[in-house]
Parts: sequence; C-alpha cells; structure tokens
Amino acid sequence: MINHQFVDFANIIKDSLRKIAIDFQSDSSLKELRFRILDWWALHGRHDLPWKKLSNSNDFIQDSCQELDPYSIWIAEVMLQQTQVVVMLPFWKNWMSIFPNVHLLSQAPLDKVLFLWQGLGYYSRAHHIHHASIQLRGTDWPRTLEEWMVLPGIGRTTAGSILSSAFNLPFPILDGNVRRIFARLTACREYPSASLDSHFWRLSILLLDKARPRDFNQALMDLGALVCTNRNPKCSLCPLTQSCSAYAIQEPCSFPMKKNSRKLSIQLIGVGVIFNERDEVLIDQRLNEGLLGGMWEFPGGKQEAGELIEQTISREITEELAIEVKVGQELISFVHTYSHKRLRFVVHICKLVSGVPQPLASQQVKWIDPCSLSAYAFPSANAKIIKALMNYLETN
Ligand code: SF4
Repeated sequence: MINHQFVDFANIIKDSLRKIAIDFQSDSSLKELRFRILDWWALHGRHDLPWKKLSNSNDFIQDSCQELDPYSIWIAEVMLQQTQVVVMLPFWKNWMSIFPNVHLLSQAPLDKVLFLWQGLGYYSRAHHIHHASIQLRGTDWPRTLEEWMVLPGIGRTTAGSILSSAFNLPFPILDGNVRRIFARLTACREYPSASLDSHFWRLSILLLDKARPRDFNQALMDLGALVCTNRNPKCSLCPLTQSCSAYAIQEPCSFPMKKNSRKLSIQLIGVGVIFNERDEVLIDQRLNEGLLGGMWEFPGGKQEAGELIEQTISREITEELAIEVKVGQELISFVHTYSHKRLRFVVHICKLVSGVPQPLASQQVKWIDPCSLSAYAFPSANAKIIKALMNYLETN
C-alpha cells in the first residue's frame, strides 16, 4: 500500500539536482508536520528547563506574550553548543548563582569566568561570553539577528534560538540536532557542507510555526535530543515516521552522511610537575589568545624527532621558563582526545636545579602549594595530572 503522507512529503523535499528542492505548493503537508511535532512535544518534550522560567519567579512560561530572561537563555545556549543538557545543567546553575546577570559577568575578571567554565571544554566559548557581556553592559537586549550575530561566539542558530526563546520571535534554528533530523527526513546523500546547510536553513524557515516559534524550535531540539538521536534513533516513538525518507528505506543511521573519518595520529607531550625546595609546584598561565587561552597548566610541550621524553621535558622547561630541572620518575601517562587531535601526555616529577622561572611563553608563572591547585582553572587533561599528583603526595 502506498503511504500517501510519505509521497506527499517526498513531493515537498525532492531529491533533485540540489538534493533538496522545496515545493512551495505543498503547505498542507508542512502544516501537518508542524502539528505532529508540536503535538509530540506537548506530551514528551522537555518542559522543565530552568532557563524557560519567568524572570524573578519559579513559574514556567504559560503565555506566548510573556518574555523570558535573554541572559539565562544566552548562557544556556552557548553551554549547549558542544554539551548535552544533563552535563551542562550543574554548570549553568552554578554560573547563574555567581553571575546572575550580564552586569556582574561583565565586571568579573576573566580568570574567574574561566574557572567557572572549567570542565565544560571549548574554552573559547567562555572568552566570547565574557567579551560579549562587556559589549552588552548597559544596553537594551538586542532583538534582531544582526545585533546578536555581531557579538563574539554567536552564530545564526544561537541568535535564532535566543530570540525565539526569549521573545517568541519567528527566527529558525539549525543546530546539530535539527540538522540530523532534516538529513534523515530527506535521506540526503550529500556530505554536510555550506550549500547543503543553505537548503536546510530554507527548510527550517518553511517548517517554523510562526505563531509559536518558541515552542516549535524547542520541540525540534527536543525531538533530536530525545528521539532522533545520533545513535539508535527511537523511530517507533517518532511523530515523523510517515514523512521520514531515512525511515522509509530503513537506514536512519546512514544519515547525515559522514566523510570517512580521518584517523587522528597521536602526538607525544612531555610535561613536568616541578617541585622547589619548599615543596611547592610550578604552574603557568597560557596566553589569552589561542586554544585554552587564559587557563593554567603544568609546563611542557611536544616531543621532537629523536628525543627521549625526559629530554623533551627538560628542553621545553628551559625554553619556556629559563630554568634547569632534574627530570625524575614518571607520574602518569594518558591519552587525551580533542576534536581535531589526540595527545599522549607523559608526565614526570621534576626538581628545580637552578634559575628563577620566567614566563617566556605564558602570561605568568606561580609556585603554589599543591593543596591550592583546585583554586585555579585547568583544562580537563590536567585534572588527571592533579589527581595523580595528589596520590603521589599521599604515598611519598
Ligand atoms: S523516523 Fe527515525 S530517523 Fe526519521 S526523524 Fe524520526 S527518529 Fe529520526
């Protein structure tokens, strides 16, 4: 038996020259899709997200005319860019208790902002939020895409999400969840690309419920997060099965198409935990620019060809700090994977032999009591080093 709704939707989204061509005549099918998405959301969506509460109240929003606090939504949206709700929620709550408004955030030192972001990763987001808060201080909240998108770290989907959530304005979104749903609905065999995105943006605009943009965008995000998940999508619970091309060919997990993932090679990094005669350890603060800018770390660097790791540590420490150390026993070795590279950290205990540390490749250096390490913002790879160091100190 022919599934008429599937055929109807296939007429809307044709696998034509550009893979996705929208037939503007078939508005009734778009309406039907909107209705099914919102109907599903009313019963199964996430209605307890704390940034959807009214300002200065414990009540959730009831009325489409009511506005929400753009600040708390903005922080949540940026945290959610690379992180799931369940992981970011404690960070968001902690952040809001310390920086409840943009004014306080804009006056905070960057160090404190990075400290609160510790564990969330992708630290450029914290830098961007801090810079943007300074630009926003004392101004009215922007109400256009353009005004949001000139702020650091805000792209079109984050801007659309903030505007639709806070002010119920009709701006579409295209985050990872929504992109995945669209790739499956259309069974599009193009690899993710800018040109494909422009078609998906068009689809997002067409699908958006202009009367309920706040609810609709949230419903799409919830559907992607709870049902049309990256692995093991729960198609039996999905309101879109009748319109989904990937479901029709029984290949949901084949979409979005993935380029053959490049195997990441491992780079060896030698790190020294240097003690002085007062049993303090040496840490340095990275420059504000670049990856992990402004974070603290133990000194070290990349192994060069033909070097033993002990030689790497000794050389890097001399080059970066102008001191001589004696490289002792290995403390820990582990692999840490970033989005674009894999690093094996080999960490050794070191003793200061001579010299006064200079911040030749960092903002500043400090000798500190190991018990004070928790007061500094370290990248997550360093958390393993600190844990190993504490175990070492307990047993030595
Ligand atoms: S039917 Fe399955 S693959 Fe299609 S949108 Fe729903 S969950 Fe995703």
